[in-house]
Amino acid sequence: MNTDGFRLAVKKRADSLINYFLIGFFLTGLILAIFYGTWLIAFGVGGLCLAAYYLCKIGLPNSNLYQYILSMVLGIFMAQYIYQMHGMFEMHFFAFIGSAILITYQNWKLQIPMMLVVVIHHATLSYLQNSGIDKIYFSQTDFDLQTFIIHTLLAAVIFFICGLWAYQLKKYSEKYIHQSMQVGLLQKEALIHLERKQNAEALEKAYEKAEKARLEAELANQAKSVFLATMSHEIRTPMNGVIGMSSLLAETSLSDQQRDYTNTITTCGESLLNVINDILDFSKIESGNMELEQEDFNLRICIEDVLDIFGTKAAGLGLDLVYHIDNNVPLQIVGDDLRLRQVLTNLVSNAMKFTQKGEVFVGVHVVKSDESENLKLQIEVRDTGIGIPPDKLNRLFKAFSQVDTSTTRKYGGTGLGLAISEKLVKLMKGEVHVESMVGQGSTFSFTIKTAVGKKVLTAYTHYDMADLQGKKILVIDDNMTNLAILKSQLELWKLIPVLADSAEVGLDILSKDIQIDLVLTDMQMPFMDGIELAQNVRKQYPSLPVILLSSVGEDCKDHSHLFNSILNKPVRQHVLSKNILEALHPQNNSLAVEKNIQQKLPGTFSEKFPLEILVAEDNLINQKVILHILHKLGYKPVLVENGAKAVEKAGQEQYDIILMDMQMPEMDGIQATRLIRESLEWQPTIIALTANTMQGDQEECLNAGMNDYISKPVKLEELTNKLEKWSLAKKESLNVVAS
Ligand code: ADP
Repeated sequence: MNTDGFRLAVKKRADSLINYFLIGFFLTGLILAIFYGTWLIAFGVGGLCLAAYYLCKIGLPNSNLYQYILSMVLGIFMAQYIYQMHGMFEMHFFAFIGSAILITYQNWKLQIPMMLVVVIHHATLSYLQNSGIDKIYFSQTDFDLQTFIIHTLLAAVIFFICGLWAYQLKKYSEKYIHQSMQVGLLQKEALIHLERKQNAEALEKAYEKAEKARLEAELANQAKSVFLATMSHEIRTPMNGVIGMSSLLAETSLSDQQRDYTNTITTCGESLLNVINDILDFSKIESGNMELEQEDFNLRICIEDVLDIFGTKAAGLGLDLVYHIDNNVPLQIVGDDLRLRQVLTNLVSNAMKFTQKGEVFVGVHVVKSDESENLKLQIEVRDTGIGIPPDKLNRLFKAFSQVDTSTTRKYGGTGLGLAISEKLVKLMKGEVHVESMVGQGSTFSFTIKTAVGKKVLTAYTHYDMADLQGKKILVIDDNMTNLAILKSQLELWKLIPVLADSAEVGLDILSKDIQIDLVLTDMQMPFMDGIELAQNVRKQYPSLPVILLSSVGEDCKDHSHLFNSILNKPVRQHVLSKNILEALHPQNNSLAVEKNIQQKLPGTFSEKFPLEILVAEDNLINQKVILHILHKLGYKPVLVENGAKAVEKAGQEQYDIILMDMQMPEMDGIQATRLIRESLEWQPTIIALTANTMQGDQEECLNAGMNDYISKPVKLEELTNKLEKWSLAKKESLNVVAS
C-alpha cells in the first residue's frame, strides 16, 4: 500500500467512526433537554450542526473542508450542552472529548477550529454572564479572569497534546508505510532473485540436456554415416552383378525382345544407382563431410561432356540442346570439375525431363572478375518446358520435394536433385536462382566463385583456323539460339557467317552470292530438311562443301555421300573446327562421319592396349562380371580370391595392372597393396575396385599406395578409360627408360 492509499483508508475509517459519534452527540443533546426542557435548542442547534457537517461532506466530496466543519461542530455541541445544563461545569469536558475524537483523522490542524470556537464561546459568554445579563448559563461557579486564563491554558494544553498526537500518529503511519514499502520492495527483489536462481538452474539443466542431445545426435549422425557406408557397399555389390551382367548380355547376339529386356534391366539398374548416389551425396553434404576439390579444369570440356550424355535423348525427343560460353570467359578455371558436372547434369536432366518441345540452352557468363584473376561465373540452364507455378518456386530446393506430388504424377524422380545441386553450389560459394513461367519454360542459373587456372593441362584440342580467315560460311538452322551460337563461334575463328533460318532462304542466298565457301546445315527443319537441301546444293554447286549437323540417332548414313562430314549435336567445338578445316582444305578431305553407335567392348581393345592383368576379388558374382568384361576386351586375366594370394601372385609374375577389391577375407586390398609396395621389386599399377564410395575411401586407397580407383558397379567406359590411361602411362615410362 502507498501513502495515498493509506490516507484514504484512515479517512474512511475516521468518517464512519464520526457518524456514530455525531448521532451520539445529537442524542446526548436530547437527553439533556429533559432536565431543563431545552428541546428547541437540542433539536435546533444539534440539527443545524449535523446538517452543516453532512451538507458539506456530500456537497464537496473531494474536499476535506467537512472535517474542519466537524471540528467546529464538536465545539458548538460543547457550548450547547453547557447551555442546556445551565452552566454545569462538567459539560466543558465535551471539548476534550471532541478534541480526542479528532485525533482519528491524524491531522493536527483540525484542533484549531474547535479551539477557536471554545475560546470565542468562553470569552463572550463569560463576559456576558459577568456583566449580569440574564439566562446566559455559562458557568455555575464564578468565572473571573483568573479562572478564564487557567481554563484556557489547560484547554490549550489538551488541544496541543491532541494535535501533537495526531501529528505523531501521521508521521508514524507514514514511516510505517515507507518501511512497509521498503520491505515490499525487498521481498520483491528476493522473489526476483529466487526466480532468477531458479531460471539459471533451469537454463543449466536445459543446456545440459541440449548438450546431451547434441552428443546423441552426433553419435546418431556417425551411426548414420556408418550405416550409409555399409548400405552403400551392400547395395553396390549386387548392383555390380546386375549392371555388369546386363552390359555383358547386351554385347551378345540377342533377339529384339531380349535386347529390349536387357536394356530395361540396364536402365533400371542405372537409375537405381543414381537414386543411391543421390541419397549418399545428400547425406554426405548434410553431415558436412563433402569436401570439394580445387583443381584446374577446362570448362568447355566439362560442359560438352555433360551435354554429350544428353545428345541421344535430345535427338529422341526432338529437342535442340545447345550451349554457349561467352568469349570473355576463361576456359581453364580452378574448382571441382566432377561436382560442377553433377550440378549441370542435374539441371540439364531436369530441363530435358520437363520439356516436350523447343530447346534446352546452357550459357556461361562472367559476372565479376578482378586483377588477381578471381572470377565469379554464372551458368544458366534455360528450357522451353512446362514451367513451374510461382507458388511452388520456394519449395523446389527442399529435399524430397516435387512440384507435382500427386501419386499419378507423370515425371519420376526423388526430389533430391535440386536440393543436392543447391548445396553443392553453396559449397562452391555461389547461389542458385530460378525464374519460370508456366507453359513458357524455366531458367535455373547458378553462380560459382573460382579463379583462372594456371597449371598446364593436357590442352583442349585447338586447330589453327588462321588460314581460313575471311571465308564465308552459310549457316542454315531454323533454331535461332543455335544460329546465334554458331555465328558467334564462327566469328571467333574470324570466319564470316551468313545466316539463314530455313533451307529455302539458304538456297536463295547461294543463288545470289557465289562467294560462299562452306554450308553448315541442320538436319531437322520444316519444309525442306538438311538432306534435301544438300541434294539441291550438290546439283547446283557440286564443289561446295556441306557439313550436316544431325541429332544422334538420325539415320543419315545412306546420304553420307552428300556431305563432307556429318556431326552429332551438340557439336564439340574442336570437332566442328576440325571438320570445317578439313572441308575447306580438300586435300585433307576425309569423310568424317562420326560413329553413332560404338561397340563398348571391342575385342581388339587388348591388342591396342596390351596388359597383363591380375584380379583380386572374393565375391563370386563380381568375379564373373569383371572376368567376362576383361575377356570380352581380349585380355587373359588371372584371378585370386584374397589379398594374400594377390601378394603371392604378384611376387611370382610381372603384372601390369592389379584390379584390387578392397574388402576381402584373410587380407584386404589395402593391406595387400602395402605389402606389394614394400616387398616387391616389380611394381604393378594397382587400381582399387570397390563398393566403398564414401568420403575418404578414395584417399585411403591412394594413401595405401594404389594408383587409381574404380567404384562398383563398374561402368564399362570407366574401366576401359582407366585401362587405356594406365596402358599409355606404362608405354611412356618404358619409352623413357629405353631412351
Ligand atoms: P527430381 O529428381 O524429382 O527431378 P529435383 O530436385 O531435381 O528432383 O526437382 C524437383 C522438382 O522441381 C521436380 O520434380 C519438378 O517438379 C521441378 N523442376 C525441376 N526442374 C524443372 C524444370 N526445368 N521445369 C519444370 N519443373 C522443374
